[in-house]
Amino acid sequence: MSELERPGAQAAVPASWEYAPAPEARDIVTLRERYGNFVGGEFVEPRSGEWYETISPATEEPLAEVPQSGGGDVELAVAAAREAFESGWSQLPGCERAKYLFRIARILQERSRELAVLESLNGGKPIRESRDVDVPLAAAHFFYYAGWADKLEYAFPNRSPSPLGVAGQIIPWNFPLLMLAWKVAPALATGNTVVVKPAETTPLTALLFCEICRQAELPPGVVNVVTGDGRTGAELVTAPVDKVAFTGSTEVGKEIQRRLAGRGARLTLELGGKAANIIFDDAPLDQAIEGIVNGIYFNQGHVCCAGSRLLVQEPVYEEVVRKLKRRMATLRIGDPLDKNTDIGAINSRRQLDKIAELVANGEAEGAQIYQPPCRLPERGYWFAPTVFTDVAQSSRIAREEIFGPVLSVLTFRTPEEALEKANNTRYGLSAGVWTEKGSRILWMAERLRAGVIWANTYNRFDPTSPFGGYKESGFGREGGLHGLEPYLSFE
Ligand code: NDP
Repeated sequence: MSELERPGAQAAVPASWEYAPAPEARDIVTLRERYGNFVGGEFVEPRSGEWYETISPATEEPLAEVPQSGGGDVELAVAAAREAFESGWSQLPGCERAKYLFRIARILQERSRELAVLESLNGGKPIRESRDVDVPLAAAHFFYYAGWADKLEYAFPNRSPSPLGVAGQIIPWNFPLLMLAWKVAPALATGNTVVVKPAETTPLTALLFCEICRQAELPPGVVNVVTGDGRTGAELVTAPVDKVAFTGSTEVGKEIQRRLAGRGARLTLELGGKAANIIFDDAPLDQAIEGIVNGIYFNQGHVCCAGSRLLVQEPVYEEVVRKLKRRMATLRIGDPLDKNTDIGAINSRRQLDKIAELVANGEAEGAQIYQPPCRLPERGYWFAPTVFTDVAQSSRIAREEIFGPVLSVLTFRTPEEALEKANNTRYGLSAGVWTEKGSRILWMAERLRAGVIWANTYNRFDPTSPFGGYKESGFGREGGLHGLEPYLSFE
């Protein structure tokens, strides 16, 4: 057993490599004590008369109060969206709609620091990620779909595309602004209007986005936002909307599908995943280690396409595990607003409990756990980066979506065995393949049952590229030309 693998062994990192704190200033964000819902271009008090507190998961400090919206609030928002759809937005020439989308994209860029700080404050993700990934990609989605707004006839020749009407959009807490952009940008580009329900724990960037819509002088009612927990989401699904777009858990996705059955409303579901990240023995191992770390520890592992099952070819298993543990010891966990932080806070107490339960189960089932030595902050919700070796395929940690910084390592001998194990899951969202051989990449990509396959990289996103799953990972695509179709009907 090597030094690094011994339980409790110190990481081989020189003590002199300590970083000085590098906090991003948070005073760029001005929070109101209490927000309303955004309906018809105005912030309005909820009809329900109920609010709840939204907090920072890194400190448990209250940030603001937001509405716990009820059926009446959803009804009002859907009516405002319907009115905006019928009174002009759907008839506006595409080039006019495009101008609004371009304007929103530019304002997202102009206010990017404010959005990044707020995203990290409310969601717990490192500022490095919200600043360099979430916010730039959100703006890129608006730019990209602005470009399509006046070209729909060319995108779908001889098919006479027309908008559906009002879309109900239910957003998860792992990428609050980015998932909003994935949903709102194609809906608006195609002439629909929307009612957005942000996740209970991360409503604040969606509310700031409402201010941006006002700044862009978007016609009232085109974008509406109602906050609240899952009950508000359920109200939106039963409201008279023409389409529902949902990103979240497979269980809730199935429930939504049942509720919509027979109603004629369109549906896209982007659900969970348990992706295989597959390392062949000829892979560039140092690059692969970065890809493994990015695949599972990015955004605390709160990523539907996270590479949470690492499949390593036997000849390089020892080396990969050793290098991975060494790299894990250099990850910095702590204040999400510190620019040097790699791993921020877990999004909520509920998610932390779920991760802890599954990790305890993994240990009880006999897998070997490794966590690098690190000190976790006393307040807030935290979980150390974790890797399990000696994992059985039947183990819960190899089958269930943990949605946390927890990696399960399995081994394989042949490409056929890698494929068999990779596809042995109820999910089918993403996969990664690491090898020098181009022909092997193509061979694997043809046979892997996953919507997105990365080769010698991981977690790369681009607005021009469609994203979505097979099997219990959902259906429908977001992004790219494919992302327009779910918002259009064709003659
Ligand atoms: P949910 O599926 O409950 O949450 C996703 C969104 O759906 C939230 O806005 C939620 O509201 C809303 N919602 C909840 N119940 C309903 C309902 N009956 N009808 C309509 N909308 C509803 O995920 P959780 O937050 O409970 O997380 C549980 C697990 O789901 C995670 O551990 C992870 O495995 C997976 N997940 C996957 C995501 C992905 O990107 N694919 C994203 C988030 C979670 P609210 O937040 O207010 O409850």
